[in-house]
Amino acid sequence: DANLATLEVVKYVVKRFGLHMNKRLGQNFLIRPDVVAQIADTADLKPGDPVLEIGPGIGTLTQALAETGAAVTAVEIDSHLLPVLDKTLEHYDNVRIIHGDILKTDIAELMGHKPFKVCANLPYYITTPIIMTLLEERLPMERLVVMVQKEVAERMTASPGSRIYGALSVAVQYYTQPEIIFEIPPKAFMPAPEVTSAVVCLDVRKEPPVSVMEEKRFFQVVKAAFSQRRKTFANTLKAAGVSKDGVAAILADCGIEGSRRGETFSLDEFAAIADAWTRYNKKQ
Ligand code: SAM
Repeated sequence: DANLATLEVVKYVVKRFGLHMNKRLGQNFLIRPDVVAQIADTADLKPGDPVLEIGPGIGTLTQALAETGAAVTAVEIDSHLLPVLDKTLEHYDNVRIIHGDILKTDIAELMGHKPFKVCANLPYYITTPIIMTLLEERLPMERLVVMVQKEVAERMTASPGSRIYGALSVAVQYYTQPEIIFEIPPKAFMPAPEVTSAVVCLDVRKEPPVSVMEEKRFFQVVKAAFSQRRKTFANTLKAAGVSKDGVAAILADCGIEGSRRGETFSLDEFAAIADAWTRYNKKQ
């Protein structure tokens, strides 16, 4: 059984290198080869394609990525794993392991300012900061295939008005077309995490789905709308420092009811509000 074989390999590696899984660094290693293969397949890599892996761990997914012939760059924070990766990836000359913290890495520089894909089983304690950093920096990425907690995957793909629709949903849907590909049970990992995981494919858009006059304003509105979910939108604008007249003018301009709650707005509506706010500011 291939699953058992992989489990044995992981156990062997852990024992041989005397590893202690570091919970604080979100270390849950995949032990199912079919899952590893399916994640790598979703990245749809051709020989020579640059791909960035975040947190290679002991190199399980890294190996599957390397097998496609892609040019793999993997950033791992835990120095204890470096000798392990040296060993598990010794037969590949298309893998580059970088020791570092992905949140402190100049990724554009690392990837040579050229288009690339991302494929990673992300450390769950920093999933959102990693994804937001990658997207906001407008890196020349084509596709991100990321394994995250199922609940986070559902937030990324949530629709307006749903309980889990939030700033992450809007940002991910603004920059990409997200799709949940499949779910993974805790027993596919060692040690087993407490939550179910899911693989999400984020295809980066060439153009945003809505055009806005000021992108900063758009994200300011989004942030305000979700920071006080229970407030009506008119009160949210007031809390963001807009005068009473300003609130009335902005709402009249975009034709949105001030009694609605921000968490019900679609991307189009957020864009309409942001532009109305921009126009109002220009008149002042
Ligand atoms: N890719 C492996 C797998 O699928 O079995 C391991 C995935 S494990 C969920 C997350 C990995 O990310 C761990 O190896 C951990 O050490 C690493 N990691 C945690 N924080 C990191 C950071 N800030 N930068 C780079 N790697 C990090």
